[in-house]
Amino acid sequence: MAITDKIYVKNHQQLRSQLETNFPKGAFKGATLDVLFQGEGLAKLDEASRERVLDFAEDFLDCDCEASPHCGCPERKFVTYLLELREQGLGPDAIVDVMSDDYMVYAYPGDVLSFLDDSVRTLEAIETLADVDGRHEVAETVQERRNRLV
Ligand SMILES: [Zn+2]
Repeated sequence: MAITDKIYVKNHQQLRSQLETNFPKGAFKGATLDVLFQGEGLAKLDEASRERVLDFAEDFLDCDCEASPHCGCPERKFVTYLLELREQGLGPDAIVDVMSDDYMVYAYPGDVLSFLDDSVRTLEAIETLADVDGRHEVAETVQERRNRLV
């Protein structure tokens, strides 16, 4: 499962009752993207929630794809956001705190940790392939990236 399958909407119950409609707890579930982040119910949300829901929509659902928001861009952008937080030196717990503050979503720190480990391993594999391939500049760039994540 991708990390984006393990990102959850905070205050899910409360938001559901404010919107007077049902949607899944997973932030990147199709119905959540439609109902919460693109829905017409925004006006029904309290102000603090509305701001964060709008921020999420603006930051992750802003592509022009025909299939948007079901095009994969929101997930890709969120992964980039997580990696950027890591590059700023944040650990899994702090990353969860920041995403809660920014967008009212959360994850389990253990899941974030696995995601970061997987990302580092993926970069290691790319680095090795690039070296074997004689593409040392690529390998170096990847290594720099990887060093910022560990
Ligand atoms: Zn898109």
